Amino acid sequence: MKNLWNDADAEKMVADYAKKGVDGDLALRVYTTRLLGGEPRLVLHGGGNTSCKTRATDLVGDEWDVLCVKGSGWDMAVIEPQGLPAVKMGALLKARALTELSDEDMVALQRSNLIDPASPNPSVETLLHAFLPHKFVDHTHSTAILAIVDQEDSKALVKTVFGEKMGYVPYIKPGFDLAKAAAEVFDADPSVEGLILDKHGIFTFGDDARQAYDRMIHYVNVAEEYVAKNGKPNATKAALPAKLARPSDIAPMLRGAVAVARGEGRFDRMISDFRTSDAIIDFINSAKIAELAGRGVSTPDLSIRIKTGPMAIPAPDADKLGDYKAVIRSHVETFAKDYQAYFETNDALDDVKRTMLDPMPRLTLVPGLGMFGHGRTLKDAKIASDVGEMWIEAVRGAEAIGNFQPLSKADLFPLEYWSLEQAKLASNKPKPLTGQVVLITGGAGAIGAATAKLFAANGAHAVIVDLDPAKAAEAAKAAGNNSIGVGADITDPAEMRAAFDKAVAVYGGVDILVSNAGAAWEGRIGELDDATLRKSFELNFFAHQSAAQNAVRIMLEQGTGGVLLFNTSKQAVNPGPKFGAYGIPKAATLFLSRQYALDYGAHGIRSNAVNADRIRSGLLTDAMIASRSGARGVSEKEYMSGNLLGQEVTADDVAQAFLHQALAERTTADVTTVDGGNIAAALR
Ligand SMILES: [Zn+2]
Repeated sequence: MKNLWNDADAEKMVADYAKKGVDGDLALRVYTTRLLGGEPRLVLHGGGNTSCKTRATDLVGDEWDVLCVKGSGWDMAVIEPQGLPAVKMGALLKARALTELSDEDMVALQRSNLIDPASPNPSVETLLHAFLPHKFVDHTHSTAILAIVDQEDSKALVKTVFGEKMGYVPYIKPGFDLAKAAAEVFDADPSVEGLILDKHGIFTFGDDARQAYDRMIHYVNVAEEYVAKNGKPNATKAALPAKLARPSDIAPMLRGAVAVARGEGRFDRMISDFRTSDAIIDFINSAKIAELAGRGVSTPDLSIRIKTGPMAIPAPDADKLGDYKAVIRSHVETFAKDYQAYFETNDALDDVKRTMLDPMPRLTLVPGLGMFGHGRTLKDAKIASDVGEMWIEAVRGAEAIGNFQPLSKADLFPLEYWSLEQAKLASNKPKPLTGQVVLITGGAGAIGAATAKLFAANGAHAVIVDLDPAKAAEAAKAAGNNSIGVGADITDPAEMRAAFDKAVAVYGGVDILVSNAGAAWEGRIGELDDATLRKSFELNFFAHQSAAQNAVRIMLEQGTGGVLLFNTSKQAVNPGPKFGAYGIPKAATLFLSRQYALDYGAHGIRSNAVNADRIRSGLLTDAMIASRSGARGVSEKEYMSGNLLGQEVTADDVAQAFLHQALAERTTADVTTVDGGNIAAALR
């Protein structure tokens, strides 16, 4: 591992922060914290922590010795000074004399001694930092260090690898007890340059930021070199099918299998993030991958992301894809059953009241293909994949020099079900469409973009399909929530298929279709040429059918139901003069919606239509509004609000109707009218 310290960068950071009133110690603390945080082999997504002992002034001008320590929720890679809250040292040091201190009291002690009460909670490893005398303390969960400590005889191995310069601390759950134990190891030999924490990670310390950082990189390199020099060749590989299925063939099946069934056809769905590389494949093709996955996480804080460890499933045979869904389901069932047993066994050991988290895997290893990270959002799914890559790194190293033996699941349990972590999770309330993927055709138009925005605000990830890829990307950006834009001519079945493939590739599947794209052609029906009518049918009927077919194909693979929503327009039930080319295929689409409701209701797939009218959009442009209102001799405003309510109906109103239909769990074969009231077009 490269030492990234650079004098010029360090000096620049000190100078830049000095202008903002941040002292040099804290500026350098930020500098090396970012260096450490930028390397996934050291820390991942909120893991690891650093500190520095300095002085700070409170509001009444009193100066205090403080520990600036990483705040919970901050990512080291992008830390700022406010991510290192200052805690008064005096109180922290006094705590060492206590014989016990609960986690809740420890948090209370730390919070009540903050200089700024608005700070985030100081790290749960704050006391460990405080009890060590050095000015700068760095802590990481280096994969190379984990390869050494995730062994049966790790204590002896630590001595062999690091000699006398590093202290060895047996595994203890982070918190007060670990802080005391670590301090005692240090006191027994204050000449050490750091501490190796069994089954957990490494601390290094120094008089300045550079020394602590240099020592971290040095000892990680010592571990890396030991693994490189003493590593055995890779384990035997499993036999793979002659023809492997593709990731997109199995993603929806897997995504459906890991959705949490809430009963009565309701599911908490997850997003799947597929990841692969030569290194991933080389490792997961091992003949013993399922057994290695079962041994657990490489460092305990990964349990927050991937629970008790990954799930491994057999490689998918392209010729036996029909049976593979059942294979996936049985593996997920076993994983969930084991997880439940793990919870029940360990929960019964004391009388603390806990709620079991959902028992679904967060990381699936598929030999021959790669891995899928699962999470309630794309961000969480990607984090699970990131964690998976580092799990592989650590386990590969551990297996190369011995036998991967991480923390036991009994010891992992108190960490996964830590009251502090459970509180964090409980505050993370999902939105109504969290975990769901909506694909919207005509997604860059007024109604499509408004719908994407509203669905994304309600937790869904939107796949915005539009003829114009740049506009699709723009609408995705405006919608937010990691939505994506896809350019496609949806009257071409291959392009429609490609748009759905993209949704599967990025999110693992599709739950909601908003089949919205449309265009109008005019002309008296008796004089209309066939080409025009057929063209209109291609977009206003067949593209809806093609979208629905693709959606249903994926929904059936997932087995978690779904919703088809069609924009059918008022023309479907109330024809306008010279508008047959538009209205007739729309009428067919209205019945298409009902046919899907009828044919797929038994699979939990709902199908509804929205009848909108007179919405300012690409179909009804400002120029058209001016010409039509002029022709009728009314003002534009009167024309647009010519309905029972006397109010203009907007794209946002249509989006609301689609959202209502997506959320109304017992509504199918429905038509919702969004036109401000038009008795002639009212449905019976
Ligand atoms: Zn740690």
